[in-house]
Amino acid sequence: MSKVQASSDYIGRFAPSPTGPLHFGSAVAALASFLQARSCGGKWFVRIEDIDPPRERVGASAAILDALLELGLKWDGEVRYQRYRSSAYDHALKQLESAGKTFACACTRRQLGDGPYPGTCRNGVATGLVGRSTRVKVDSAEIGFDDLLQGRHHQQLVRDVGDYIIKRADGLYAYHLAVVVDDAADGITEIVRGVDLLDSTPRQIYLQRLLGLDTPKYVHIPVVLNQSGVKLSKQTEATPIDPTSSRRVLIEALKFLQQAPPPKLNDQTRDEILEWAVANWDISSVGKVSRVYAA
Ligand SMILES: [Zn+2]
Repeated sequence: MSKVQASSDYIGRFAPSPTGPLHFGSAVAALASFLQARSCGGKWFVRIEDIDPPRERVGASAAILDALLELGLKWDGEVRYQRYRSSAYDHALKQLESAGKTFACACTRRQLGDGPYPGTCRNGVATGLVGRSTRVKVDSAEIGFDDLLQGRHHQQLVRDVGDYIIKRADGLYAYHLAVVVDDAADGITEIVRGVDLLDSTPRQIYLQRLLGLDTPKYVHIPVVLNQSGVKLSKQTEATPIDPTSSRRVLIEALKFLQQAPPPKLNDQTRDEILEWAVANWDISSVGKVSRVYAA
């Protein structure tokens, strides 16, 4: 018996970008967000973050969704696709523009290098140049939040980041704007995702405030590292999970998440494994430190 209560207001989500098939690291993130939602009887949505066509790989969205289903991670409602959401992003951009919070920027990445944006175009682009990207103006307020696993995290955007891009020179919306608009539209109450995104959270909270949107709760879980200590990712060509061994993938993911799956699960069906995982899910055991794991 799973301890699902139907009355929960919890809404969580898994939001992969379709740059390659589901690998073990993304399976861990999917499972953690799924279990966090299901263990309190909440909803769990899947959103394909396909706002960056140049980085996408043909067939990756379908492969990710198939892999989730093979793992038994069935989402609620329709899959969301960011590629259909540009009018919502246009609307948010207009709202920021009318509030005087944006400016056009003509700088190239090479000109700027690393480090916070120095404010070059804040008061207008230099004569003869054309502003191609759009940045949001930040201020000196400290943006902080309490992460369920990572604890208190804060940034002063003007010092740590500078004015940041919300619409790119190639006309595509930046992740920060899109994710904030979509999380609000879907009524997401808590975001469970990899700790590699911890540092981007204050930028998203800042946009939520400017747009008058609620800030969800955040839980940044450890990410799976490869033997070189680098996050498993589609960019580092992490091996896709084998959809024919979903039981093994689930058990290995539960081990990574420090849920101590008992040996008897090895002989159980996929759905029995998931039922155990939902009933015994303990987010506080997950810990905060990313680590190497060879599944
Ligand atoms: Zn600039």
